[in-house]
Amino acid sequence: MLSKIVKFKSNDMAIDLGTANTVVYLRGRGIVLNEPSVVALETVNGVRRVKAVGDDAKLMMGKASGQIEVIRPLRDGVIADIDVAEQMIKHFIHKVHGQSLFPRWPEIVICVPSGSTSVERRAIRDAASNAGASQVWLIEEPMAAAIGAGMPVTEPIGSLIVDIGGGTSEIAVMSLRGLAYAASVRVGGDKMDEAIISYIRRNHNLLIGEVTAEWVKKELGIAIRGAKGSESRPIKGRDLVNGVPKEIIVTQRQIAEALAEPVSAIVGGVRAGLENIAPELAADIADQGVVLTGGGALLTGLDEAIGAAIGLPVIIAEDPLTCVARGTGMVLEDNSLRALLS
Ligand code: ADP
Ligand code: MG
Repeated sequence: MLSKIVKFKSNDMAIDLGTANTVVYLRGRGIVLNEPSVVALETVNGVRRVKAVGDDAKLMMGKASGQIEVIRPLRDGVIADIDVAEQMIKHFIHKVHGQSLFPRWPEIVICVPSGSTSVERRAIRDAASNAGASQVWLIEEPMAAAIGAGMPVTEPIGSLIVDIGGGTSEIAVMSLRGLAYAASVRVGGDKMDEAIISYIRRNHNLLIGEVTAEWVKKELGIAIRGAKGSESRPIKGRDLVNGVPKEIIVTQRQIAEALAEPVSAIVGGVRAGLENIAPELAADIADQGVVLTGGGALLTGLDEAIGAAIGLPVIIAEDPLTCVARGTGMVLEDNSLRALLS
């Protein structure tokens, strides 16, 4: 308990260890790193070693060959490969720590999905300790997202956050510093990309890669089926009939159709959350609105689709991709929030 009273110092860090992106906030500085949670590994003489991490590794995605393998160690919302995750955390901490004027091993606050098991929490703690943290604190991710979105989590007011990341969408209600409800749907940006890949395969006999699918989702993705979007984009892939490279034009309407299933899974998760909370909290949420964070919040029309399904106002947090990191960072800056750490 005593250590909770000691203040955070200048090179202490907050880390949003996301399935798609890792964002690091340095106390007194703000966000200093925002890179894909991707690691490229190279096997030389039977020994696997890290070749690239983050932006550099993502450039190799879908293009690696032979000895090089590109991995997303947190892929499904939990740590899929703990050793590689640890190497990645180490790399990012060292990258940020190297920028510090007065190097001192930092205290680190990391957010964990609220559904994480104690084994997963232990693994994240150990990874950060092994990477050089002098002390590791954990915070529930939806709590961090809500703080980052400026919601009144310490007051007796219910706040509903929907954080749509790469691997999962987390739905949580907070009030009086605690989680009144938390659920995780294993559908996020990755499932949207996969839905686009299978739609294009089914309807055009064209195999496209993950990077292309994510790009087209950002360019044309829309959560409203039957939307009159007139936009279209050319995409390239491999023709499944004769095996050669081919380019086709996809329209916004097609991508909307491809995304219908993952979108409805997310909408269903929000609806289930609302059905499972106390009426007083539901009344607060009706007043405040539902707040969307995470990269998936940027999918065009997702706020509208959720709003139409639940009949409540839906608000996209400012800069949803950095909301969790900024919220975790605010805990570093404001000692009155330290009680939220474990
Ligand atoms: P995580 O917390 O799991 O790392 P993020 O909150 O960083 O996830 O969100 C990453 C996801 O958001 C990715 O699947 C990415 O494709 C998606 N994303 C980012 N921008 C957009 C956009 N404009 N439209 C739709 N999805 C987006
Ligand atoms: Mg996230």
